[in-house]
Amino acid sequence: MAQFHPSSEAPMSASILVVEDEPGIQELLKFNLSHHGHDVTVASDAEEALVRIRDSVPDLILLDWMLPGASGVELARKVRADPRLKEVPIIMLTARGDERDKVLGLETGADDYITKPFSPRELMARIKAVLRRRAPQMTEDMVEIAGLRLDPLAHRVHGKHAGGDRPLELGPTEFRLLHFLMTHAERVYSRSQLLDQVWGDHVFVEERTVDVHIRRLRSALEPTEHDRLIQTVRGTGYRLSCNLG
Ligand code: CA
Repeated sequence: MAQFHPSSEAPMSASILVVEDEPGIQELLKFNLSHHGHDVTVASDAEEALVRIRDSVPDLILLDWMLPGASGVELARKVRADPRLKEVPIIMLTARGDERDKVLGLETGADDYITKPFSPRELMARIKAVLRRRAPQMTEDMVEIAGLRLDPLAHRVHGKHAGGDRPLELGPTEFRLLHFLMTHAERVYSRSQLLDQVWGDHVFVEERTVDVHIRRLRSALEPTEHDRLIQTVRGTGYRLSCNLG
């Protein structure tokens, strides 16, 4: 089966689902987000949004409060109640400026809240802040663990070992996988969680694909012995440990 994932990964490029019924705002959001390198999908109501989310889990949801049918708040509750989706960051969009509504939105599980009308600049800043907090693998911050250093901006990985610092050659999927594991160190992820987080897609990729890429990742890290950081947790999945043990 063919793999299905984006071919090139610009730093800070997130897949964003916009749930908004108003065509004008929908267009405006799509235009601005795409312009900033994000991969945008649009849904006009909660029902359509759920279909899209379950097809391919987005990195972030921009959710309008007032939707025809089920409201944005109801959708946010559904997302938070679903174990597979509960980690997806949500930013609520609303025309209301009421403090009480803001509190309700945040209680529902939204990560942030933005009141219409908003400037594209403010929106981009909020998105970046939420991703940095909730999905550090989406940001361009350098990560270093046990002498293994990953630079998302330069798309480079270096490993320290007895002979000094050396560059390590990783394929694009291995890079994304390592970036995710390094920004979520010490936590165990199942194959299906890794598919959602790293591939963003459950539908077109088989779970054993994860094993193939873990194997490739380990061999890419072997020259500096950082392959030892990647641990197999029997019956569960994989984890990146913070020390070479
Ligand atoms: Ca609306």
